[in-house]
Amino acid sequence: MIPLHPVTDVDHACPHCHVRLGVKGWYIPGMRNLAELACSQCGREFYGDLPAGHGLHYPMLLEKATGVVHDRVSVPWFSEWLYASYTQRRSEPLNLHVEEYKPVRRAVLLNCLDFRYGHCLLKLLNAQHYLDRRPDLGLIVLVPRYLRWLVPEGVASIWTVDLSLSRGIEWNDWLGQEIHRRIEELEECYLSVAFSHPHPDDVAIEKFTRVTPFPVHEWEERLYRPTVTFIWRGDRLWIGAPSDGIPEGEIGSSSCATLEQSLKIVTLATRLRKRLPGLDFAVAGLGKPGGLPEWILDLRMTTPDEEAERRLCQRYARSHVIMGVHGSSMLLPSAHAGAVIELMPEERWGNALQDLLLRKGDLREALFRCRVLPLTLSVDALCNVVVSLLDDWTGMLLHMQRKWCLHESGLISSAWVEAREQLHRRRSLRTLTIVTINTESPEERRVRGESLSGAADCSAGTLRELGHEAYDFYANDEALQKTWMHEHRLRVQGAQPSEPNAALLQHVRKAAEAPVRHFKDLIRPVLQALDSRHSWFYEILSTQIGHHQPDVLLVRDAGGIKGDFLKEIKPCVRLLVGQVTSTLPGRDELGCYDLVIASSPDAVAQCRSLGVRAELLGSAFDPQELVALVRQYL
Ligand SMILES: [Zn+2]
Repeated sequence: MIPLHPVTDVDHACPHCHVRLGVKGWYIPGMRNLAELACSQCGREFYGDLPAGHGLHYPMLLEKATGVVHDRVSVPWFSEWLYASYTQRRSEPLNLHVEEYKPVRRAVLLNCLDFRYGHCLLKLLNAQHYLDRRPDLGLIVLVPRYLRWLVPEGVASIWTVDLSLSRGIEWNDWLGQEIHRRIEELEECYLSVAFSHPHPDDVAIEKFTRVTPFPVHEWEERLYRPTVTFIWRGDRLWIGAPSDGIPEGEIGSSSCATLEQSLKIVTLATRLRKRLPGLDFAVAGLGKPGGLPEWILDLRMTTPDEEAERRLCQRYARSHVIMGVHGSSMLLPSAHAGAVIELMPEERWGNALQDLLLRKGDLREALFRCRVLPLTLSVDALCNVVVSLLDDWTGMLLHMQRKWCLHESGLISSAWVEAREQLHRRRSLRTLTIVTINTESPEERRVRGESLSGAADCSAGTLRELGHEAYDFYANDEALQKTWMHEHRLRVQGAQPSEPNAALLQHVRKAAEAPVRHFKDLIRPVLQALDSRHSWFYEILSTQIGHHQPDVLLVRDAGGIKGDFLKEIKPCVRLLVGQVTSTLPGRDELGCYDLVIASSPDAVAQCRSLGVRAELLGSAFDPQELVALVRQYL
């Protein structure tokens, strides 16, 4: 702690006479914690940084008369901030709101003002040390308004300043005098060193956000809903290297670059969704919401309030994995999520880990759960890392966690095998998304229903009762199908769907015209899906399949859907299953299916002789049988 009142102590030397400067007092006109200094030889007067915040590492000295900053450590950004704030100093009153929770005579002041969000937040995390270790001192926290909600319980006093982030650099003499007057009323006051990167052992984030981080021990149970959140920021984008074709000078600000990020995120989410049944994918962070497919949860906000910030932390704490581009926007997400993937711009490697709040714990576990990767990572590579984190975490623990690597434990292989089996049992509980396509006409369906014969409807309701996401579509029922489109705010016949998809699709079309080679790969699947519909039948069907991206697509009459269409939608489906009821469909159609189910052994044999995987399943099968069967092929 730094002695502040009644006696201030700090070591600075006169840059002209090289003698120790006398300390006359202290002054805190904003983010800067300064000592008032004077040289006994030349008489010059100075302000010198007290060793708090970045002043600990980069102590600057400012000559009162000239504003010249002496920077003996050569850190221009920190010296320039001081120079700029001093030469543009203000003195108008600010709104300083004081909350007193405990009477206090001896105190420590934690100054969290800054004009970098991450700096403010990291300084505030120092509060816990005093609350845990220095009950003899009352803690006074000086915070900007937007951090008030994060001040932990137990502080003696909260001084909230209405100062926006961009004005956090200001030198305000009114504030300086106000802080001085209030501190002088105390018997004794220290200044917190406010480390710019407090140690994880000294911080429990839930004391600040009141949100408990992701319970890592429930990783596997929570995989029934794999939860992934992309942290959006508009000023540092996940886009390719300049060689990707983005025009120079536009990176970081152009709508072109923002569009590329959107497309990459949507492509990533789409691919993840195919590989992770029941995926819950969200985009969160600072930004204007809109323009994403509706199955992606859009949690972006331009000006979040305290309640919204806390809700976002709850989202991070539900997320198995959060990912985003390096920066202070990763602090709270990384503090709460199960695992973190950070994308590093090339010029920021020296700042790696500065924006990640990692939890205490085993070194190997921490490394496994925290991946710092280059920003130029492709969508597919990132997709693989996410899937691996989700799938392999528990297996990794079985090999590497302390309790499985303890010489004294007398561990026998049966315990290990049992743990592994338990893991697989929990895995098998994962839900599937199953879409069934019926191609009967309404009339055929009515007749069959009345006759009580033939195939029973593989009802979505039963599958849902089993815990799966399931949908039945009657592709030939124009009224039903068009109602579905209407309910999803989509229009048939190539018309543009309404919000929220319209913006994205417009972007996609615009991007296709842009002379940027890189976009083409990203948008080709979207455009193909849009342009290759021949009638409402296939148009609506492809929309429905694209919308749900099912794990299993079951076509109740394997011959009822054209081979060309099956080939087109196959990338959206993990397992394409065709049911053969009477006659075997043509070879073109049959060849598209990953699996054929048939109720007669003859049909099964015939399919297999054609090289098509086939299984026997009665016409009126139990949906549970279907689930058990398809799991073998997924
Ligand atoms: Zn001097």
